[in-house]
Amino acid sequence: MDQIRIKNLRVYAYHGVYEQEKEKGQNFCVSAVLSVDMEQAGTSDEIGDAVDYGAVCLFIAEFMQENRFDLLEAVAGRLAEAVLFAFPAVKRIELEVDKPDAPIPLRFDSVSVRIERGWHRVFIALGSNMGDKLGYLERAVSNLQEDSHFRNIKVSDYIETAPYGGVEQGDFLNGVLEAETLYSPESLLVRLQKEEQLAGRTREVHWGPRTLDLDILFYDELILMKKELTIPHPDMKNRLFVLEPLAALAPHYVHPVYRRSVGELLAELKASSVL
Ligand code: AMP
Repeated sequence: MDQIRIKNLRVYAYHGVYEQEKEKGQNFCVSAVLSVDMEQAGTSDEIGDAVDYGAVCLFIAEFMQENRFDLLEAVAGRLAEAVLFAFPAVKRIELEVDKPDAPIPLRFDSVSVRIERGWHRVFIALGSNMGDKLGYLERAVSNLQEDSHFRNIKVSDYIETAPYGGVEQGDFLNGVLEAETLYSPESLLVRLQKEEQLAGRTREVHWGPRTLDLDILFYDELILMKKELTIPHPDMKNRLFVLEPLAALAPHYVHPVYRRSVGELLAELKASSVL
């Protein structure tokens, strides 16, 4: 993607673990690479279509001066998020915060931390088969809508489906949510598990009844295989109740492992279940 690059923006600010750093302050250098789609601005030559890099520099300087953090990690993490919130056209930011005069009794040029943050396109499967199913799903969606780490949330229609996995239990209400998120895959899982707990979910029977089930289907084109988290969700190609609402939102989205679109996976599953 197109980029705006800011190199070594100098800001006098008050971050550090030591009291003297917070009182006296010191120099910081901030470098940033902003991923922005510039096609429109490149064609129109209108400032209104561009991310104003002057405004970004002033925003960074003001943020650095108005806040006080102990750690460079916190400076960088909070600043990156603040830029992404303040400039919605910025999809991704690589940020380096450098402390050339850090209190280290040795000769060195500088110490810095470098991080990357950005908006990631995610699809999340929603399911409930206990109590007020629609209420559980709607409350979860509304809580995610209020979380600033999500934006552009879209939700499919909900469908009633028979239970899956062989455990005797009530019918499910299923749907899929699409969003952009600032969470990393691991933090997203933790966030969704918190939402399941809020709905009073207990994990007693594997594939058993649940007030709320939230599964990560896709996270950009990421392929991840960890003990506690597999992305894309491993069983989705066998689940009509996932593929149907997913295809309603994004029929052309390509599964990064099977290299087939969601629409094609749905058609194949429907064809095989007729056999
Ligand atoms: P379940 O009881 O079906 O909701 O399974 C939840 C467990 O599956 C969680 O403890 C997760 O660690 C694990 N898991 C693995 N991959 C995923 C995924 N893509 N989305 C959600 N949970 C996952």
